[in-house]
Amino acid sequence: IRRPLIAGNWKMCKTGPEAVETAKQLVALVRDVTEVDVMIAPPFTALSPVYDVIRESPVALGAQNLFWEPEGAYTGEISVGMLKAAGCRYVIIGHSERRQYFGETDETVNRKIRAAIRGQLMPVLCVGESEAERVSENTFSVLDKQIRNGLKNISSGDLGTLVIAYEPIWAIGTGKTASREQAQEVHKFLRSVIEKKYGNLLAKSIRIQYGGSVKSNNIDALMQMPDVDGALVGGASLDAESFGRIVRFE
Ligand code: 13P
Repeated sequence: IRRPLIAGNWKMCKTGPEAVETAKQLVALVRDVTEVDVMIAPPFTALSPVYDVIRESPVALGAQNLFWEPEGAYTGEISVGMLKAAGCRYVIIGHSERRQYFGETDETVNRKIRAAIRGQLMPVLCVGESEAERVSENTFSVLDKQIRNGLKNISSGDLGTLVIAYEPIWAIGTGKTASREQAQEVHKFLRSVIEKKYGNLLAKSIRIQYGGSVKSNNIDALMQMPDVDGALVGGASLDAESFGRIVRFE
């Protein structure tokens, strides 16, 4: 019942022309995909040109961040309205790199999630534990806190389009993917957190993606797990050929 979402987070990679080139190749490769939702999130400067390439295709546009105010004196920031005008339907929020390097907290993540929902952008809420947190067996408590604080003051009626991305920090860009059993264990736990807060119906319908060194050679195994509803792909999404293969997982 849950439609898989395979998303590419291009991070701070690709100029406008480079992004357009990759998007063109990707559209050619996934033109006929119907069973899976596909999204790519290029840097802000490439959003509009990429949208021109993908607008008639199965590939949807996402942003990597937003600021919650609608407009004003916030130098360097981008609003929900700007993202929507550029063609975005999704927005990634609270990626661990933003938490680590740019001071994002559960509180700013919560404000961003609420702004996205208000503006009818589909938020992809990223959560994940560090290596030290996993080793000290705090994975579940860390994730529970990230979910509860990230979704503070958000009612179940507003969560219909929210996607959760489980991205263990130790697996991002390291080539160390979580095993499919590790991913399944955490996804099941995340679904139970949603169930406790929002009930069974929402828990069953919410999509939970896995992210962290997803490649064309490990996507099939991950997607076989019952609570893995897609992937948020970094490095392997930069190349159309490899991302196209991931979109066509078996
Ligand atoms: P990698 O796929 O490069 O490990 O990155 C994962 C990620 O952070 C996606 O948001």
